[in-house]
Amino acid sequence: MQHPVSPLEKHETFCFTCSPQVACFNACCRDLNQVLTPYDVLCLKQFLKMSSTDFLNKYTEESTGPGTGLPVVSLRFSNADDLACPFVTGAGCRVYPARPASCRTYPLARGVSRNRETGNLTEHWALIREPHCLGFKNGQPQTVDEWVDDQQIATHNRMNDMMLELISLKNRFRSGPLMPSEKKRVFTALYDLDAFRDDLLEKGVTTVTAADIQALDRARTGDLDLLLVAMDWVRKNVFTISPKKA
Ligand code: SF4
Ligand code: SF4
Repeated sequence: MQHPVSPLEKHETFCFTCSPQVACFNACCRDLNQVLTPYDVLCLKQFLKMSSTDFLNKYTEESTGPGTGLPVVSLRFSNADDLACPFVTGAGCRVYPARPASCRTYPLARGVSRNRETGNLTEHWALIREPHCLGFKNGQPQTVDEWVDDQQIATHNRMNDMMLELISLKNRFRSGPLMPSEKKRVFTALYDLDAFRDDLLEKGVTTVTAADIQALDRARTGDLDLLLVAMDWVRKNVFTISPKKA
């Protein structure tokens, strides 16, 4: 069934609130195709105090992007009839402080477009009014910016935009699907950060250039810095796109 989706300008307001008191509490945490971005995986594995490898094995499934060959990582929902998210409990989301960007953004949806000449990104917002969601019945008027602040989505959006930029570069300069071995390298670098750090720093399987050394030092201990190194590494070493071209 098509959900009523209406475009929303950043200055426009919408009324919405969600709490355990709503009759539909948790209704939106099941039967979803919840794709995770690399930054979502980073936040979740940190919050759950798991290695990225264990987190991915336990909670996710991997598929392949049609046409691109890129890895797609999704939350593995329960096999029971209710198709529940692995993190939903009677008391709500048990990973709430680390919930994925799409869960934070709902009932809004965000898209970005890129100006080919300037490279500037423009955000586009829409309001999703699903019939089962009773959150629109209450709540004070708020703008998109207020919602982004309230739900702490800014860093997710910044990191996810960088990921979209990487995919866009791949599509522009490296058309066609990746080979399975390339897909595996992309998966490890972007999603399995602890394995990537191990390859990079301990086993020396992965190399970086002298120009990356400072970033690499920061990435020894910081997952966010490591993800930035990983994106750059994928661009150069898997997609073979030089900084000049990008
Ligand atoms: S369906 Fe809407 S109001 Fe109900 S729990 Fe989900 S987001 Fe909240
Ligand atoms: S991560 Fe949390 S908010 Fe998102 S679908 Fe799962 S239980 Fe719901």
